[in-house]
Amino acid sequence: MPRTKLHDVQLWDGTWTWCYGWRDGLPVWKFRTAPAGLVTKKQLWAQRLRRRRGQDPFGLLVFHRSGCGEQVAPLFRLDLAIPSRRMSARWADSITAMGRAHRTCRRCGAKSTTYLPTSTWKCWPCMEATGDFGEPAVA
Ligand SMILES: [Zn+2]
Repeated sequence: MPRTKLHDVQLWDGTWTWCYGWRDGLPVWKFRTAPAGLVTKKQLWAQRLRRRRGQDPFGLLVFHRSGCGEQVAPLFRLDLAIPSRRMSARWADSITAMGRAHRTCRRCGAKSTTYLPTSTWKCWPCMEATGDFGEPAVA
């Protein structure tokens, strides 16, 4: 009698394959036995892909890591994944520019090491000089 009983499972494209069983209604595979086209989140990332919004796992990958016990990783359909947006140079620049704007005094142009209050956009010396501390007007 075989130690592991294999179960038939139908894939999204109608082909039949086997899995090790079911867990939470999802077919379970072990490491290196998952059918082609099913990948973990980490593998999606490695292929510059990400899950579609609301994309649910198709199956589960169950494996053992020494010292960690049983690990379960959801498996996602590669054909449903979409390209992931990586940090581009322009995007990084815009984030830097935003930080710079938050640290530049609107009155004297001094660069602060911390974010300036958005109520005044001024550095402390300028707030003292103008008496404008960004306090809410008394009603
Ligand atoms: Zn200033």
